[in-house]
Amino acid sequence: MKLSKRITHLTPGGSDGWDVFYRARAMKSAGQPVIELTIGEHDIPTHPSILDAMHASATGGHTGYAAVPGTQALRQAVANRIQSRTGVPTTPANILITPGGQAALFAAHTAVCDEGDVALYIDPFYATYPGTIRGIGATPQAIPAYPDHGFQPRAVDIAKHAKGAKSLLINTPNNPTGAVYSRATLQEIADTCVEHDLWLISDEVYDTQLWEGDHISPRALPDMAERTLVVGSMSKSHAMTGSRIGWICAPSDIIEHLINLATHTTYGVAGYIQDGAEFALGEGVALEDEVSAPFARRRLITESLLAKQNIVKGSPIQGAMYAMLDIRATGLTGEGFANDLLNTHSIATMPGESFGIAAAGHIRVAMTIDDDTYTSALKTLLDFAALKAA
Ligand code: PMP
Repeated sequence: MKLSKRITHLTPGGSDGWDVFYRARAMKSAGQPVIELTIGEHDIPTHPSILDAMHASATGGHTGYAAVPGTQALRQAVANRIQSRTGVPTTPANILITPGGQAALFAAHTAVCDEGDVALYIDPFYATYPGTIRGIGATPQAIPAYPDHGFQPRAVDIAKHAKGAKSLLINTPNNPTGAVYSRATLQEIADTCVEHDLWLISDEVYDTQLWEGDHISPRALPDMAERTLVVGSMSKSHAMTGSRIGWICAPSDIIEHLINLATHTTYGVAGYIQDGAEFALGEGVALEDEVSAPFARRRLITESLLAKQNIVKGSPIQGAMYAMLDIRATGLTGEGFANDLLNTHSIATMPGESFGIAAAGHIRVAMTIDDDTYTSALKTLLDFAALKAA
């Protein structure tokens, strides 16, 4: 019996570039202590007040099938949040609640791409992007955004592949680079989308983790609301990664189709999770700031340690929970460095090469462990780099 190409070709060679991560996890389960600076997972649990809201909802009976598009109250809360942050008129008819941002990425591409269409995305990229595009039968095409341009994509590079393509996926604040796209970058992207008639899928799951500049949603740029699908999530903003709750914000006719898709795929999101999310959004920025505060602190730790040496160069950490470090002065590839560091010091990082070609010679450090352990792991990493460069 033969499985479909769709599933067997999701990730090339069966690998998804997370080999160092899997090796670190295997070492850990074999009993070896490993410091993991790998994935985007908070070191704090979901706030007890959100869990209380979920518990009250569940024990109050919201355990049956919930409305497939999302509860009206949560759709309204998300619409309010988006409208107040961007100024773009937004109603519940523009919102579909999804089981996390990942499901939203899959649904958004399903909405705009047919089988065989070319879907563009920016490299360095969040690990699932090309697989998500392949998963809906489209062809992923990477557009490099280079370190010497602050990992901001340029219109000339997008234009090279834009002809005949269907969509462009961007992510700001960015995982893995920590870049926040400037207004100029986003305007160039918007102009390119209009010129080449591309749908824009804007992954904004890190919109509360902003350390420098402004978060601009491209949906707010002139003529963009009608061609932009925004992907949002409670995972990063509220430390709710395990609750699987996010959304798509798009023109209402697209949302109508996406509700139909949800009916035939997820059949909605658990009602008590949605009620917990509604409560969390009701707490406003105070709770979001509490959740993002550890990353703000560790960003400062990272920048101060980097400033004390000159082997490893950091890209500006403008947003999100990651530092993208240029380790080319060691003469190693990102993969070589990450593997060596794991073998010799039991510190796991992600090689830049797992995120595409543009981050080759880099490693991504997730600032997702407590401040003291983070500080000492980063010191060890920098000493290791100095030794290699010597
Ligand atoms: N987009 C980006 C850029 C991410 O980093 C992640 C998770 N790491 C997601 C989307 C998906 O997040 P979730 O499904 O948990 O909302």
